[in-house]
Amino acid sequence: MKLNTKGLILKEQSIGEQDKLVTVLTADLGVIKAFVRGAKSIKSKKQSATGLLCYSKLSLYNGKDSYIIDEAQTIEVFFGLRSNIEKLALAQYFAELSCELAPELSDANEYLRVVLNSLYMISNSKKPDLQIKAITELRLLSLSGYMPNLVACERCGEFETETMYFDIEHGLIYCENCADENAPLALELGIVSAMRHIIFSKLEKLYSFSMTDAQLQDLSYVTETYLKSKTERKYRTLDFYNSLRKI
Ligand SMILES: [Zn+2]
Repeated sequence: MKLNTKGLILKEQSIGEQDKLVTVLTADLGVIKAFVRGAKSIKSKKQSATGLLCYSKLSLYNGKDSYIIDEAQTIEVFFGLRSNIEKLALAQYFAELSCELAPELSDANEYLRVVLNSLYMISNSKKPDLQIKAITELRLLSLSGYMPNLVACERCGEFETETMYFDIEHGLIYCENCADENAPLALELGIVSAMRHIIFSKLEKLYSFSMTDAQLQDLSYVTETYLKSKTERKYRTLDFYNSLRKI
């Protein structure tokens, strides 16, 4: 059966001389693996349209063990990523995160929309990269069932105090009167407000907030630490991105 969909290429691996296997994030089928036959031939239009971080129209059919891409046509290549190694590294991290968090073979429309928007934002430098990083981490985590409960203090229900304390392991916050030894990470209210915005806002407003560079460092630190704690793994692409930022 032939299917038409659109997808973002998250990963590509060579298979033999001519073929490759790609991992694709699609809206309707979630994360899928698909073969591209003859992709390496110079004349192949499929080669460029199935390159890493391309968003393309795909025509595919169900093979025995996986999908096979029959035709591919580029919609967006995020050109601004290709000339900046730091942005490219961050984009590759978003691809690795999508492989980890987005569902396989089921609806992933919202994941795809978040990742495409984030790639567009970093490609066009619409907001600071660290802001896009924090948004992508926390929003994808929330979509995949790891949403922290940031509504109010876990103990007394206080909505906001100047400093709040985050329990990374359980994804809970405490106010300054209930500060708990299990929640050692002190966050200024502005960081908590940004995290609430990332979790609860509509996609159209997701990127619409501004913070100082120092606040963005803190925000990015907390979303990254929470992500690693919840998914219990390291991200090679994140380590690479962070190593570039230290230079
Ligand atoms: Zn409290």
